[in-house]
Amino acid sequence: MSNAVTRATFDQVMVPNYSPVEFIPVKGLGSRVWDQQGNEYIDFAGGIAVNSLGHCHPELVAALTEQGNKLWHLSNVFTNEPALQLATRLTELTFAERVFLCNSGAEANEAAFKLARKYATDHFGADKYEIISCKNSFHGRTVFTVNVGGQPKYSEGFGPNPAGITHVEYNSIEALKEAISDKTCAVVIEPVQGEGGVLPADKAYLEAARELCNQHNALLIFDEVQTGVGRCGTLYAYQSYGVTPDILSSAKGLGGGFPVGAILTTSAIAKSLGVGTHGTTYGGNPLASAVAGKVIEIVSRPEVLEGVRAKHDRFVTGLNAINAKYHVFKTVRGMGLLIGCVLADEYAGRAKDFLKAAEKERLMVLVAGLNVVRLAPSLVVEDKDIDEGLARLDAAIASLVSAR
Ligand SMILES: *Cc1c(COP(=O)(O)O)cnc(C)c1O
Repeated sequence: MSNAVTRATFDQVMVPNYSPVEFIPVKGLGSRVWDQQGNEYIDFAGGIAVNSLGHCHPELVAALTEQGNKLWHLSNVFTNEPALQLATRLTELTFAERVFLCNSGAEANEAAFKLARKYATDHFGADKYEIISCKNSFHGRTVFTVNVGGQPKYSEGFGPNPAGITHVEYNSIEALKEAISDKTCAVVIEPVQGEGGVLPADKAYLEAARELCNQHNALLIFDEVQTGVGRCGTLYAYQSYGVTPDILSSAKGLGGGFPVGAILTTSAIAKSLGVGTHGTTYGGNPLASAVAGKVIEIVSRPEVLEGVRAKHDRFVTGLNAINAKYHVFKTVRGMGLLIGCVLADEYAGRAKDFLKAAEKERLMVLVAGLNVVRLAPSLVVEDKDIDEGLARLDAAIASLVSAR
């Protein structure tokens, strides 16, 4: 029977670019997930910071089914109510005056980088094209975005690579000062490096980046694909830092699991993406926009954002208590519900082993590189699920430590 699929089917029919864990989830509710055999898992992975409201949040299911019965897709030859409502709300809640809607983080960054180059060309000439990014950063997997990203292992073998991209040390004001010039069109920074190890920027660094961009007529782009939509305790992380970018990219949590991306910017900058200069067939389609609109409505409720900050403390307290027993973490860092447990030197390179040990205890976690265990749970994860998940993590680490 062709629908009797197992994990082995993956290796038979899929391109081998992923290596998914052994079980196949079939159902989710809140922060719990069930696999094909009916085993129940606690989800601290959140679809990699995507399932901002957990699984099958009733208000999101309602928004999706309501729109699903009305109108799915039109193309950008027509506009639609959900897209206009979403964009209006985003402009009300952020620095932005204009919004471009697309379908993923890479696509949002691609648009941001193209816009920065076009804006520089329009205002300062074609020689102002350099993009400065950070080492260890991640901005997506298209050829342009993967090269702006600062992890060469992801871009190797896909050359020739686009020109005009420089990488500097993250959180180093000196390095940025050294690299920036009047040929720089944009500086792109993740307020917290997500894939790179859940490493928050210093406030002084973002302030200096803002100032240096102003001095050199370069645009400051914040890649908030991972940090955005409440993840860090404010709707966008720039609001916690008090440093405003010129362009902000958003995706992941924005759709709560429905694919959608966006860039936010000012009217003056947006002018450079005039009619016909850029586009995407699905961008701002009614289904994605209806869901994202509901996500934004729920996440921007004060009790949800306050909840993120309170749950952060609950996680950090619990993680530190676990660490007091086993001494496996060098430090626990992050913002809001984007949390990184940096492994102690004895466990260097073994983050994947922690993920596998957690899986055995029916807990879903993430890694960020080789040395960081990353948690990105639902922003509305219930306290009892946090406690139960941390108890499972405790058990996982106990077995990993005793196996040494
Ligand atoms: C995940 C991520 C991306 C890429 O998003 P996709 O939707 O996978 O294309 C870009 N930037 C950051 C900071 C991310 O975390």
